Amino acid sequence: MVENQLMPRGIKDIRVLDAMRKIPRHLFVDESMQYKAYDDTPLPAGEEQTISQPYMVAIMTELLELKGSERVLEIGTGSGYQAAILAELSGHVYTVERLGSLSKRAGEIIRALGYSNINFRVSDGTLGWPEEAPFDRIIITAGAPELPEPLTEQLSEGGIILAPVGGRFSQQLIKARKNNGELIRVSHTPCVFVPLVGRYGWKESL
Ligand code: SAH
Repeated sequence: MVENQLMPRGIKDIRVLDAMRKIPRHLFVDESMQYKAYDDTPLPAGEEQTISQPYMVAIMTELLELKGSERVLEIGTGSGYQAAILAELSGHVYTVERLGSLSKRAGEIIRALGYSNINFRVSDGTLGWPEEAPFDRIIITAGAPELPEPLTEQLSEGGIILAPVGGRFSQQLIKARKNNGELIRVSHTPCVFVPLVGRYGWKESL
């Protein structure tokens, strides 16, 4: 996966490549799909949600510019695969999922892998995690109509927020950095994520 998919497509951050070599992706995938766990494709994660394509996880993680000590907020725990990568590469991860069954399963897998620098919460992630704010990095792994305001408020000065932003069925990966209280936005690759459903996201599924 790392040699055939990620490196040829330009993922360069050694720490990201090492983390993706280390974390067993097949543990986060439905059992019936485990034979495809290292393929170049998104896969079902239960409850009609998906575990993102490895390349998308890699590019998003690289764009976060993690050095090792950051406090990271993730919205959309899903399978927990991205959260495990973040736990490997940052200081502490706070991950929020709206569906309790997914959060529970992700928590079990990640704890079994030995990570203790991660907290799980079941709630509407568009509201963030105010009790633990501010965060140095915020990553939304579901498609948002706009960057949710509570999240941009919970981002620290100099921090980075990353999210797929756009329509319900296709988005653009947006990276924004907080500079003197203002967000400087840069647009990256087009992408397709399941909708971010919540108060500052989309209404309940169609
Ligand atoms: N990061 C995940 C991929 C997540 S798919 C992984 O590595 O597997 C998107 C997830 O976002 C889904 O599990 C979905 O239930 C969740 N989600 C959607 N809206 C949300 C919200 N408002 N708050 C928290 N989670 C949300």
